[in-house]
Amino acid sequence: MAINLNSNKGQKGGINRLSFLSAICIAILISILLLILINLDVIQTESYIVFILFLISFLVSFGIIKFVLFDHLGRRFKIIYKLINMSGKGQYDKVMDSLHEGQSFVIAEKDVENWLTQKNEEQLALIKLEEYRREYIGNVSHELKTPIFNIQGFIQSLLEGGLKDNEVNMKFLQKALSNADRLQSIVEDLETISQLESGKSEKEFVAFDLAQLCIDVLDDLNRVAKEKSIKLVFRSEEEPSRKVIGDQAMIRIALTNLVQNAIKYGIAEGYVKIRIYEADDKMLVEIADNGMGIPEESLPKVFDRFYRVDKGRSREMGGSGLGLSIVKHIIEYHDQTIQVRSNKSEGSVFSFTLPLSKNDW
Ligand code: ADP
Repeated sequence: MAINLNSNKGQKGGINRLSFLSAICIAILISILLLILINLDVIQTESYIVFILFLISFLVSFGIIKFVLFDHLGRRFKIIYKLINMSGKGQYDKVMDSLHEGQSFVIAEKDVENWLTQKNEEQLALIKLEEYRREYIGNVSHELKTPIFNIQGFIQSLLEGGLKDNEVNMKFLQKALSNADRLQSIVEDLETISQLESGKSEKEFVAFDLAQLCIDVLDDLNRVAKEKSIKLVFRSEEEPSRKVIGDQAMIRIALTNLVQNAIKYGIAEGYVKIRIYEADDKMLVEIADNGMGIPEESLPKVFDRFYRVDKGRSREMGGSGLGLSIVKHIIEYHDQTIQVRSNKSEGSVFSFTLPLSKNDW
């Protein structure tokens, strides 16, 4: 809902002009009255007296009108500035100083317009925030509901006799446990995002060897990749590569998430490659796979919280739909950006940059 300003752009005439015109009208009226009274012989006086009275009435009216207008408008402006609560006395003084030049209305109008624009922007931001909050709470409860229901179901079945059935009791307990693990991973992911969003923690950036970190991450995930017969490859353009500046632990989380996804949505006998390149004062990191790819219409949404291209499949694989959102937050925490390009059935490439360290090699 936008606030409208009914501006009156015609009110540019100064107080002087207004007072002058009013005073001259009053003086003319008084002079005409005097002339009529003289003609009717009600009073007898010389014509120069009429002129002097004309001048006196003009000056007195001019002074009174100007004072009244000044006082009246001054008070009005004061109220306006109090209402819009704008930059204290300074702006009000500026308006009052330019009152006799006729610029006050223009200045005050501009200030009110700025104030309204700012209010409209604030209002829009609040509406967006509210929508976002509602959607977020809906998504969180939806995500938590499934594992909670599953755990309830398995416990219920165990209580209703499954516990004594050796064929199912261990299976149900295992399934309840894996759903509890899923709950834990969602909560941990949410915590990570809220920590990153609050931005409260001091940025502890250090120079570190990105190439070595990439190799470590690939080593850690080698077992998972092998299960799917996916080959993990690391390639660096420069040998040895320069160090980058950042929070190494966070970048490890981001790289791990991206490689995990590349394996998760990759194809058997496929590959996942991390490539790093030096570009000006940055290091470009690419995580590429030849997996299932992402449809074009989903590309702008993949970094949104809880967004999944294939909801069923992602949940089956234990995904919370928060991984890429965390990655994006981490990269933005480093004041960098992350991009994705992908073709359905051909694979995806996620790329981000990190600033190069100036003196460490
Ligand atoms: P999830 O926990 O579902 O993996 P993410 O936030 O990590 O959540 O990813 C969001 C969605 O983006 C995934 O559900 C998947 O559909 C898609 N996606 C992410 N990485 C890839 C990839 N390398 N290849 C294909 N699709 C991907």
